[in-house]
Amino acid sequence: MVQHFDVLIVGAGISGISAAYHLRDQCPDKSYAILENQESFGGTWLTHTYPGIRSDSDLYTFGYKFKPWTSAPIASADEILKYMNEVIEENGIDKNIRYQHQIKSASWSSEAKLWTLTALQKNTGETVQITCNFLWMCQGYYRHAKGYTPDFKGMDQFQGEIVHPQTWPENFNYKGKKVLVIGSGATAATIIPAMAEECEHITMLQRSPTYFIPAENRNEVADMLRELDIPEEWVHEIVRKKILHDQNVLVQRTYDEPEAVKEELIAAAREHLGPDFDVEQHFTPSYRPWSQRVAFVPDGDLFKGISSGKASVVTDQIETFTEKGIQLKSGKELEADIIITATGFNLCVLGDIAFTIDDKPLDFADTWTYQGVMFSDIPNMAWVFGYLRTSWTMRADMISTFVCRLLNHMKAKGVTVCAPELRKEDQDMPALPFFDTDDFNPGYIMRGVDLMPKKGDHAPWIHTQDYNVDKDALPAMDLDDGTLNFS
Ligand SMILES: Cc1cc2nc3c(=O)[nH]c(=O)nc-3n(C[C@H](O)[C@H](O)[C@H](O)COP(=O)(O)OP(=O)(O)OC[C@H]3O[C@@H](n4cnc5c(N)ncnc54)[C@H](O)[C@@H]3O)c2cc1C
Repeated sequence: MVQHFDVLIVGAGISGISAAYHLRDQCPDKSYAILENQESFGGTWLTHTYPGIRSDSDLYTFGYKFKPWTSAPIASADEILKYMNEVIEENGIDKNIRYQHQIKSASWSSEAKLWTLTALQKNTGETVQITCNFLWMCQGYYRHAKGYTPDFKGMDQFQGEIVHPQTWPENFNYKGKKVLVIGSGATAATIIPAMAEECEHITMLQRSPTYFIPAENRNEVADMLRELDIPEEWVHEIVRKKILHDQNVLVQRTYDEPEAVKEELIAAAREHLGPDFDVEQHFTPSYRPWSQRVAFVPDGDLFKGISSGKASVVTDQIETFTEKGIQLKSGKELEADIIITATGFNLCVLGDIAFTIDDKPLDFADTWTYQGVMFSDIPNMAWVFGYLRTSWTMRADMISTFVCRLLNHMKAKGVTVCAPELRKEDQDMPALPFFDTDDFNPGYIMRGVDLMPKKGDHAPWIHTQDYNVDKDALPAMDLDDGTLNFS
């Protein structure tokens, strides 16, 4: 028998749980289920198990608006999972999650006005079909099964082990080993201090330097408010506002006085590493701060590892892997027992699901985005693409509220189908890339931007990645402005 729900949510990560919370809160009459490929909730925080795995933004903003965060701002995956578990239990979401359901296809029928999802039930090997009126895609932005590893020359020659952080082997033993980490993003900055103590030596090999913000893992305002016995709900809200305010100031400064910000960030690294360390070579990026996410280094742990001599940094390019390690373009060879490729993700649009609309295959790159939430001519479907510089969840929560408003609007109008459509005045819009790649350009975005929907040059066909714009624009969206076609 084919089961039916009003709403199906794909993914039980931070976004899917936000969607379920808001549905229950704002559309209590809707039946819903969450379909999740993995054996538990958490998404990113379940997939990644490498040493030290933690957030790189603070949990006051990465946490939900509706659930106070009460610990240190940077949190481990375990702490995030515990927090999510509390949200799930407190709101009775657990009974609505179906784990080990890998969705393979999603088909919209205009006649039946339904989505039919076909999922492989991984624990039984059975294929099941489930239908819904509204599909809410919370599948994240990268392929969970496999991380991105460039095709380095000579990889097959290397006699040691090559590990990608996204598929970390269980009980992996690196005690007393020489470890080489390729990359210098947030993942490398986490793994290196976490592993440094146990291995013989760990080296961060980077093609080019990255910005880091070393600071104590505490929030002074939160500490002060707690000392005054202020309720946690207030602490959460005030600290969120303060963090967003400070971030706005910093981001604005990166446009107004990029050199001054750059100098401050580099000075912080210099302070931790001492006058003899070559900060110019290893920690002085050539790009404008904030055109890629700036990783927070709690308590300067990466720099402490380097200062202790257990970790080091090499800035060079890979010529080839060798039997013993990596030969660099400069001619130097780095020996290793283990090479960790902290080289990022594969961007994945909508969970590798084969979509069809009335039996016609759907390519999302052919569609126009409606506020980064819906797609032109795709009925009854929303997706969550959060922020990449501000915490992801700030946008996930906002989209949840928007989708619930839309569902309630449809109910009030007595309609069952809603699809964004270009109006006459929208027909000649220039087709712009989903991301402004001049402004924000990490590798996974540059590799995958062509897979994403297009955006136009005016609302609602835009996607700003800017919380300050969205926080006013999304709640104020006029659902009857003619761009949403209801039937
Ligand atoms: C190591 C790491 C650290 C990060 N730290 C931060 C941070 O500090 N701050 C920040 O803002 N962002 C951070 N990010 C980005 C992070 O991915 C997002 O912020 C957030 O966790 C995404 O949540 P999500 O629920 O949208 O997606 P995900 O966490 O990716 O979860 C999506 C879920 O959907 C499921 N799914 C996907 N496809 C299917 C399918 N076909 N069928 C069934 N289920 C499917 C997946 O199994 C997964 O459980 C980090 C990312 C990584 C990898």
